[in-house]
Formats: sequence, structure tokens, C-alpha cells
Amino acid sequence: MASKSATDNLDFSGLFRELASGVPGVLFCYEISADASTHRIPFISSRVRDLFGVSPDELLRDASELFNIIHPDDHDAVGSSIQQSFQDLAPWQQQARLRLRSGEYRWFEGHSVPRREPGGSTLWFGQFTDIQAHKDLEFGLRKSEAEAEYQLSFQQLMTSLSSDFINSTIGDIDDKVQTFLARIGEFFGVDRVYVYRFSEDLARMTNTHEWCREGVPELKGSQQQVDITGFHWWQAQTKSVLKQNRVVFIEDVSKLPKEAVAERELLEEQGVAAMFCVPILIRGVVEGFFGMDSLTVRSWRKDQSDLLILAANLLSEALERHRLEQELLNQSIRDPLTGIHNRRYLQPRVEEMMSRFQRTGEGFALAMLDIDHFKRVNDTLGHQAGDRVLQEFGRLLQEQFRGTDVAARYGGEEFVVALASASHESARQALLRILERVRAMNVEFKGRTVPVTVSAGLVHVVDLRPGKLSTDAMVTEADRRLYKAKRSGRDCLVDASGKSRL
Ligand code: GH3
Ligand code: MG
Ligand code: MG
Repeated sequence: MASKSATDNLDFSGLFRELASGVPGVLFCYEISADASTHRIPFISSRVRDLFGVSPDELLRDASELFNIIHPDDHDAVGSSIQQSFQDLAPWQQQARLRLRSGEYRWFEGHSVPRREPGGSTLWFGQFTDIQAHKDLEFGLRKSEAEAEYQLSFQQLMTSLSSDFINSTIGDIDDKVQTFLARIGEFFGVDRVYVYRFSEDLARMTNTHEWCREGVPELKGSQQQVDITGFHWWQAQTKSVLKQNRVVFIEDVSKLPKEAVAERELLEEQGVAAMFCVPILIRGVVEGFFGMDSLTVRSWRKDQSDLLILAANLLSEALERHRLEQELLNQSIRDPLTGIHNRRYLQPRVEEMMSRFQRTGEGFALAMLDIDHFKRVNDTLGHQAGDRVLQEFGRLLQEQFRGTDVAARYGGEEFVVALASASHESARQALLRILERVRAMNVEFKGRTVPVTVSAGLVHVVDLRPGKLSTDAMVTEADRRLYKAKRSGRDCLVDASGKSRL
């Protein structure tokens, strides 16, 4: 005969209650009346008291007590999920934060299966369990995913900006810097991004480029040659920043130290609440800084300063490369002794004037000038005296002509000037004035005054026969007339109408 099992004598409702209080979650039965006007909780396991500090008896009397422990932000979601399950009788599942007896909220997940009773009411049998650990993991994952995405998009931004800079040409560096500022501003979500340059004595700073979010006032116009000698705190910051390759970081302008009153006033005047600055180094020398403003106090990411240093380095490199290119270009088109343009620069510019003339009929003139008896200067006073004369003459030419004209050292002591959009007569007058000024130049050398005169041959483009239009033909003709000027006594001008002198 089989022996009786241990549970045979147990009362089943007691056994169920025991089991229910032993499971990790809370078991419940929830009911909504047929007309959906009332709800109640016919059963809930005693664990509800341990976890949330509400007694099962109380809940049996008033089901809304259970809804009071739901986090206000999750209330609506729970309500509508129950509604849904009530309508379609599909299993109910919902996550929500519930308030523990300690007052702290934790994430729970509820599951239950609805059943329509013959009388029309609906019953749900289910449980809710603590899923906080799972949520923590999920948040952690989401955060590191967002983090990876952020880093990746920053990398992509840097790559794109860097190739943008590499593809820049001498003339468009300002546009590229502008694009750089805008994209950095958008990325970091700030209100203003800018570049300032220090004066050589570090006493003044000038805003050279600025990007502002829409609606944010621009400062560039008012930030030119700003005297910074009164900003001691700022200068000390910049120095320490340089040593440690980090940023000046002001999270809250209103909390700047006492010694930074002047700086605080300036920033507050500009509406700045928080800012970042990174120095721009060109060949190891601080030339200025790159920075960004936020008009509201905000919390910044911890690694944002590292990213900013990367961005500033990219900008520094681009500006350094641009500087180098500019210098090389300058070297190749300028004469080192006088600093004025050389023949290499002159040639294409005259060709431009020639093709404009052929296109539009706009006249221009070209003159060749040669210092008179220059060998004598060298022979009597020495080569250095000769150099001084060349430099002074170069300076005079530079001063006398408009930016659209070209004055170049052609060779030895021969110079060429090309006068853009000039008539016969205006070119002649301009040259005669030069000759006059040279006469009055009186170069001083070692206590002696060196008298200088020049001769010039001038040719206007209309002097050439239409079939013989070329830069070379112009130079040859100017040279021929210069020779004539030399032969007819020097210190004079020869053009199509012959010799003249003021
Ligand atoms: P003219 O009035 O006929 O032009 O007489 P000139 O003495 O100027 O004659 P020429 O053109 O023959 O002499 C040019 C001199 O210029 C010869 C050369 O030694 C000198 N020279 C050329 N380049 C330089 C330079 O860079 N520095 C100095 N000091 N002298 C130069
Ligand atoms: Mg000469
Ligand atoms: Mg000569």
C-alpha cells in the first residue's frame, strides 16, 4: 500500500499562500468590473508589504493604493497597457518604476494573463518582479553605445575637416577656417566658436574668425585690437595652459575668482556663461587661441577638453601650413633685396592686362626704368651704397602706384611698372612724377647724400601695331625707348610723343 504524501494533509489555500510569499516577485489577481467602472485586487501576495510597505489587506479594500506606488512618469504607460489588455484580452506585460518602502524607486516588470469571467468582469493573474539589475545593464550598454557613436562621429568630423584643409588653396584658407568653426560649433552644441590672434607683444588680441549660432550676437566687429594688458588672470591661465597643453575651461563665468574681475566683466558683457579656449601654436609659438562660448551654464563632457585639443591641433597645423605656403609663394614672386615683385610675378600680370585689353579695350601702359650712372655709385661709394639706392627706389615705386598696378625689379638696376587701366596721358604723368620724386630722393649713405636720377621708356598698348600685340613686344619697345632716353641726356622719359621731363 502506498504511503500518504506529505502534502495530503495540507490545506491547499494555505499551501498556495506559503508558495506565493516565497517567490521573488509579487503574485496578484486584479479584476475590472464588466462596465469598467470599478477595479479591485482579490489577491496579492504578502511580499507586497515587505517590498513596498503597503499591506495586502489595505489593497484588497482599495486597489488604487497599488497605483500610488508607480512612478509618476510611468503612470500613463501602465494605465494604457491595462486598457489595451482589457480590450483585446492579450497577455499584459509592462515595465515601470515602483516606490520601495525606503522611498527609492526600482524598475519592475509585470506579466499577467487576462480572463473574461461569465459575468463580464475581467481577471488578470500574474506577478511583477524586480528587473533593476537588468535595467542597469541595459542603461550601461546604451551609454557605451552612445559613447562609441559620439567618439566615432568626432573622428569622422576630424577626418573630414582635415581633408578639407589639405585640399585648401592659398586663397581659401579663411573659408576653410569658417567651415571648421561652424562644424565644431554644431558638433559641441555651443553658441559661438572663434579664433583670436595675439599681437606680437601679446598686448592686444584680434578676433580673426567667428561663427555664431543663429540669433547669437556676433562679436568680431568689436573684438579688434582689444587691449589685454589688464587681463592678468587670463594671461596667467594662457601661460599655464601652454606648459601643460590643456584648455582654459570656465564652466561658470559667474564663479570666476576675484582676481579675474576684468575678464568676468568682459565675458558677462558678451553674454557668455561658460567657455573653453585652446591655444593655437605655430612653429611652437603661441599665435592666438581657438575657443567656444556657451550663453548658458551647462555641464560639459569630461573628455571634451581632449577633443578640443585635437581640434585645435588640426587648426594649428592647417594655419602653419598656410603660413609656410604663403612665405614660399612670397619668396618666389618677390625680389629679396627690395621686397617688391620680381619678373616672375610681372609676366603673368602683364599678360592679364593684355588679354583684358583684347577683350574689353581697356588700355594699359608699361614702362622700363633704369637708374642713371648706377655703376658710378657702386664704384665711388661701394656696392652697399648701390644696394641702398635700389632699396629706396623700390620703396618709392611701391608707394607711388595703386594696388592694381605692378612694380617689379626686372634685373640689376632695371625696373618695370605696368599701369592697369591707364590712358596714354595719365601713364605719362605718373612716370614724370616718378622721375621728379627720384630727383628729390637724396639717399643718405654714411653721412653722404647720393644723388639719383632715372631714365624711362614708356609704351602704351595702343602704340603697338594690332598684329604685334604681346607682352614681349611691349617690353622690347619700352626698352628701346629707354635707350633713347639714355642717349638724349638721361633723367627723362621717352614715349610715343618723344622726350619729356617735368
Ligand atoms: P646708365 O645710366 O647707362 O644706365 O649707366 P649705368 O652705370 O647704370 O650702366 P649699367 O646699366 O651698365 O650698370 C648697371 C650696374 O648695376 C652694373 C652692376 O654692377 C650694378 N648692379 C646690378 N645689380 C646690382 C645690385 O643688386 N646691387 C648693386 N649694388 N649693384 C648692382
Ligand atoms: Mg643704369
Ligand atoms: Mg642698366
